[in-house]
Amino acid sequence: MKCTACGSSALVEGTVKDTNGASVSFSLNDVPTLKAIFGVGNRKVQAYGCIRCHNLQFSVAFSEKDFERYQQFEGEQPDVLERINSDPKKLKS
Ligand SMILES: [Zn+2]
Repeated sequence: MKCTACGSSALVEGTVKDTNGASVSFSLNDVPTLKAIFGVGNRKVQAYGCIRCHNLQFSVAFSEKDFERYQQFEGEQPDVLERINSDPKKLKS
C-alpha cells in the first residue's frame, strides 16, 4: 500500500480508537438494524499513518463473503471509464 497523498510507501500500521479505547469499525449500511445492534456487518478498520507527509488513511478488512456479495459493484466501472473518455481535455493530453 502507498500513501494516497504523497505516494510514499513509508506507512505505519495502526488502529483508530475512540476516547473510551474502543476500536472504530466500518458498518455495512445494508444490514438490518437488529442484526447491526449485535455487531453483524461490522468490519475492522485498519489505519495507516504516513511518516513522510503525516497523512492518515484507512482500509476495510472485508471478508471473503463480502467480496463475493459486493463484486457486482465492479460492473459500474465502465460507467466511470465512459465518463473519463467523454472528457475532451483528457483525450487530447
Ligand atoms: Zn504521505
